[in-house]
Amino acid sequence: MGAVTVSPRPRPPRHLADLDAAGRRAAVADLGLPGFRADQLSRHYFARLTDDPDQMTDLPAGLRAELTQALLPKLLTAQRELACDRGMTRKTLWRAFDGAYIESVLMRYTGRVTMCVSSQAGCGMACPFCATGQAGLTRNLSTGEIVAQVVAGAAAMARGEVPGGPGRVSNIVFMGMGEPLANYASVLGAVRRITDPAPDGLGISQRSVTVSTVGLVPAIERLTAERLSVRLAVSLHAPDDELRDELVPVNRRWNVARVLDAAWAYADATGRRVSIEYAMIRDVNDQAWRAEALADLLSGRLAHVNLIPLNPTPGSRWTASDPEVAREFTDRIAARGIPVTVRDTRGTQIDGACGQLAATGRIADPTETGPTETGPADAGPGAGDRPTLSLTPG
Ligand code: SAH
Repeated sequence: MGAVTVSPRPRPPRHLADLDAAGRRAAVADLGLPGFRADQLSRHYFARLTDDPDQMTDLPAGLRAELTQALLPKLLTAQRELACDRGMTRKTLWRAFDGAYIESVLMRYTGRVTMCVSSQAGCGMACPFCATGQAGLTRNLSTGEIVAQVVAGAAAMARGEVPGGPGRVSNIVFMGMGEPLANYASVLGAVRRITDPAPDGLGISQRSVTVSTVGLVPAIERLTAERLSVRLAVSLHAPDDELRDELVPVNRRWNVARVLDAAWAYADATGRRVSIEYAMIRDVNDQAWRAEALADLLSGRLAHVNLIPLNPTPGSRWTASDPEVAREFTDRIAARGIPVTVRDTRGTQIDGACGQLAATGRIADPTETGPTETGPADAGPGAGDRPTLSLTPG
């Protein structure tokens, strides 16, 4: 056998958000600086939501550039922004250091602001109804790249860029591109940075963070052992293995029974209701008997059903359930005493709704009309190479 040399894929530059507090102090020590400089930098990034050295007036001017270059490299550049729902929903297309594209979505509601973030560029799970799943996996995101999506949204909220006045990001859902539990270490690091109190992190409550998975059982078990109180969402989509094998191909590895066992163990350990995601697909998984079969599986468990009207993706042979059929499905679940809600379809017009995120190739689409486009947010040539948060207006 001949040896094949494969050059390793370049990794995203190291970022403050990749490191825990001790790691940040060590990184600063490597630069020959005292540990408290790490705390100052953390405060700028996680509490003041800035990586602009000019604003770091508590740091000696001579150190600002060195520290930001070493620990706050610009990881994501906003390439395009689309807004709908009168500005209350906005999707950002990000370009990473290696040209990979990812998307995040910010949704403002009364009393809460939810950000849907990507954990991978692309996805390897190949669910046939999901746009991201069609293109395959490009790569895992780093912790810093996941956190950067949240920090950008938090900064936009803090500056009052979203209609409704200044505010905070209150909820995070790992429901953008990618399978979070297939990128376990980076996602867990991101959960820690998102939930650690400032200045070590963004200080968002663990209870307000949802990790959504196709059902990678060993990773669910690992998450259970972390003893966090984040919410687990399981993308079930069918109560029977025959159909789930098709809709969520990883079911052939870990079937419905095994996925739900892992989910109930998570619920037992955390006391938190598991969210069962179910995309309603016309004449595919929306029959009355499947509603009853689903209720049989969930009855008496710490579970909540989240029904998602299917967002048809380009070229898909599937469409959303008829509203009457969806209502009957909902009623059957509810009649069995199982909490059930129907997911709103925020962002559909800007291809920012569940399962529609497929950043590749969307950038130059001249046919995209209707929603407001703001951008490119990229400052373009002349912006200099100093790192700034991509959404910083100046
Ligand atoms: N990989 C994770 C996160 C994916 S996105 C997971 O599978 O859970 C979050 C949810 O959107 C998942 O439940 C996913 O199955 C669902 N989804 C994907 N494509 C969809 C579509 N076209 N319409 C409605 N929901 C979809």
